[in-house]
This record gives sequence, C-alpha cells and structure tokens, in this order.
Amino acid sequence: MRLVLLGPPGAGKGTQAQRLVAKWGIVQLSTGDMLRAAVAAGSPLGVKAKEIMDRGELVPDHLVIELIDARLDGPDATNGFILDGFPRTVAQAEALDALLEAKRMRLDAVIELVVDEAMLLKRVENRIRETLEAGGCVRVDDNPETLKTRVDAYRKQTAPVSAYYSGKQALKQVDGMAPIEDVARAVDAALAA
Ligand code: AMP
Repeated sequence: MRLVLLGPPGAGKGTQAQRLVAKWGIVQLSTGDMLRAAVAAGSPLGVKAKEIMDRGELVPDHLVIELIDARLDGPDATNGFILDGFPRTVAQAEALDALLEAKRMRLDAVIELVVDEAMLLKRVENRIRETLEAGGCVRVDDNPETLKTRVDAYRKQTAPVSAYYSGKQALKQVDGMAPIEDVARAVDAALAA
C-alpha cells in the first residue's frame, strides 16, 4: 500500500498515519520528522532547515525531494509507505511522480483530511497541552504565531497539490473534523472504494 496523506497542520495526519502504519504494516515517511532529526543532529541539512522551520515556512523543494528519494525504496518500505507532509508543493508532487515512475512504483491513493481553518488553532493548542501533560517537549513551531505562517504556506503552496491529484482522479477527501475514530473509518472506506 502506497499512500500520500494531505492536510493542513493540526488536521490529524500524524494520528491517522500511525493507525495506517499498524493496519497495513507500512512505514510512515514524514519529511517533518526527518527534518527535525536533521536539526537535532546538527547535520548540514539541519543547519539549512532550522531557521526556515522555526519561522513556519517551507524548506526548499530539492532538500525534501532528496530525503524522500533516499527512503522510498528503503528496506523498511517493502510493504509500502505513507507519505506524511510530502508533497507540499506542486513541484514536489511532480518530482514524486517522476521518482515513482523511475522506481516502477505507483500510488494507491492520496487522502486529504479536510479541516476548517478556524479549527486548526484549537487543535494545535490541544496538541501542545497533551504533549506537556505527557511530559514531552513541544515543537518549536507549535505556537499560534508560527501556526499562522504554516497555515498560510498550506493555503498558498500545498492546497494546489490537492487540485493536482484531483485532476489525476487520485484524490480521496475525508472530513478531518469528525472524531478520530470516524475519520479512521472514513479513511478505511475511502481506501476500500
Ligand atoms: P510537519 O512536521 O510536517 O508539520 O513539518 C514541519 C516543518 O518542516 C514545516 O513547517 C516545514 O518547515 C518543514 N517541512 C516538512 N515537510 C516539508 C516539505 N515537504 N516541504 C517543505 N518543507 C517541509
């Protein structure tokens, strides 16, 4: 199973991705997680990405395309993968098509979690509270100011990606504002269709 999961920050992509990983035995490839690991390691990529991520903007396409290229045919992805947070621009979506073609792979579905923008701030506030309650560290970019930039980036640069896939008849839209279990059921139904 090879999937793309689209949706704005706070839409619940991480939660649904984890469930799909368990259900299908696939690997979650999150460019956000890969970039945060690079920042934590202080690698050259991390140094380039850190300030951009802290501002809530998108890092340059070629950096994330290289990350994904290296992981798509990794040993942990033999059963498939779920791309979480990639592609985020039409250029990334086009590059992904080219990579998949070169690797003789095809996507089974592109799922978009559709969420009302007004809900996003509340979702992110909840995520911050839950993380703190669990004794975890809050992401540097999980704050109301940066969230605004992240949502703007989504609207301007990532929303066209759903139109890109919709034009290829690959897009399945799911109401991301429903309770988690209902979203999960809707995702499963979309994949079974
Ligand atoms: P995320 O964990 O998916 O919310 O990503 C956190 C941050 O990493 C984003 O705000 C961007 O700065 C950066 N990032 C993650 N994925 C991408 C991508 N596909 N293209 C560009 N920047 C990305």
